[in-house]
Amino acid sequence: MAIIMRGKELAAQIRADLAEEISAIKKETPKRPGLAVIQVGQDPASTIYVNNKKKACEEIGIQSYGYDLPAEISDQDLKKLIETLNHDPRIHGILCQLPLPGHRDEAQFIHAIAPQKDVDGLHPLNAGLLLQGHDCLLSCTPAGILTMLKAYDLPLAGKHCVVIGRSNMVGKPVAQLLLKENATVTMAHSKTLELPALCRQGDILIAAIGRPQFITADFIRPGAVVIDVGINRNADGKIVGDVDFDRVLPLVSAITPVPNGVGPMTISMLMANTLTAFKRQENIS
Ligand code: NAP
Repeated sequence: MAIIMRGKELAAQIRADLAEEISAIKKETPKRPGLAVIQVGQDPASTIYVNNKKKACEEIGIQSYGYDLPAEISDQDLKKLIETLNHDPRIHGILCQLPLPGHRDEAQFIHAIAPQKDVDGLHPLNAGLLLQGHDCLLSCTPAGILTMLKAYDLPLAGKHCVVIGRSNMVGKPVAQLLLKENATVTMAHSKTLELPALCRQGDILIAAIGRPQFITADFIRPGAVVIDVGINRNADGKIVGDVDFDRVLPLVSAITPVPNGVGPMTISMLMANTLTAFKRQENIS
């Protein structure tokens, strides 16, 4: 019987542990961890993500500061706000909800965030530290995936991990994290040839593609561990992953569901990063 990796429950446990730690810190100091949450425009999916993040802050004792900006805000004004937040002592983490509306070069805003407040772990300094195997603020979804694999005691050293997707947010950093854990990592993308055969070589398959139920039984090595990062709407408007869960389930040894798999872990890792950033900036051990 395959293990269904319940990210929702694990994420709730992590938030409970963080809440306890924050409550203990609050007894020692009047300082409070603060997270700035920037949303540009009113994309409904982004609003749901932003609200979930603010709710998680409230649940565990992080002060969230919402900045809801019009879609038409100029690049210059958005950068000016980030610059102000970089110097605001109440703010320890800055989150700019992506994607931004319009055809903006998002990198300029990510680069504008002070690396020590980059709780999404997307700044090139943090990405570079990860690449070189150093301590850094980790990208939240990859950190959530690693935490989940470890929580379920799934061995990584020596395993062949196939990661499909090479985004800066998911594919590249998760590959680096797995490498650091001594896995052998293969990265695949839209130009990869003979993808199903390649994926069938994977002891661990991580799908971060953004295509509903793209991964069918044909991609799975019997007994593999499958991590489904995708969040997609199918033709009926239902949220589904990149993996065809029902057809793949009989083949695998462990799998994450969508929803309630990787998604909730991402938010808990954002909370953990905010607490880490707060402790580092306020010199709390
Ligand atoms: P992205 O930036 O659009 O990257 C998608 C990657 O998938 C690209 O590298 C692309 O290859 C690859 N790809 C696309 N079609 C492919 C195909 N037919 N065969 C092989 N590779 C293909 O997306 P992302 O930000 O990484 O997100 C991926 C998915 O994860 C989305 O569904 C997103 O909503 C979800 N997500 C979930 C969470 C969470 O918390 N659960 C967090 C972030 C993202 P190329 O590079 O060649 O174009």
